[in-house]
Amino acid sequence: MGNMAKEITTLNNEQLLRVLNEAFAEEWLAYYQYWIGAKIMEGPMRASIESEFEEHAKEELEHAHWLAERIIQLGGTPILNPIDWDKMAKCKYLTPENPFNVELLKQNLASERCAIKRYQQICEMCHGKDFETFEISRKILHEELDHEQDWEDFLQDIEKQQEYAIEKIKSETKQ
Ligand code: FE
Ligand code: FE
Ligand code: MG
Repeated sequence: MGNMAKEITTLNNEQLLRVLNEAFAEEWLAYYQYWIGAKIMEGPMRASIESEFEEHAKEELEHAHWLAERIIQLGGTPILNPIDWDKMAKCKYLTPENPFNVELLKQNLASERCAIKRYQQICEMCHGKDFETFEISRKILHEELDHEQDWEDFLQDIEKQQEYAIEKIKSETKQ
């Protein structure tokens, strides 16, 4: 713990630590949601979607790492038992019951949007009050926005491909 680290922020430390631990739990769940999704998925563009899932899993784990370091610096304790991840998380784990990757993309898009709201919230909380936590949250927010964009693009491409195929069938059956 850094004593000055605690002293210089004008925020309620307990409340901040609570929110940081919620985000920490969410990152582990996000990590696993991508990790297991990459393993089980089937469907269009499998290779590229699978490697993007693996990439995102790594990034979520890194977010958990940054949050844990900051929690410790502020005198808190990162969640010690995985059993508490689901209890603490506000952005819930979405079980990939359907391995079809278009469904997995939709689930993870929803999760990313929840994460975006979470880091926007922490940024707003810390803005002008706790520069270091603000900086960490802003850095994570940047990556979550990027993740959202990735899935929007994939879903749009898949939809375009379907529309194209339907049009092609229509024009062929007219002839
Ligand atoms: Fe994340
Ligand atoms: Fe993400
Ligand atoms: Mg990406």
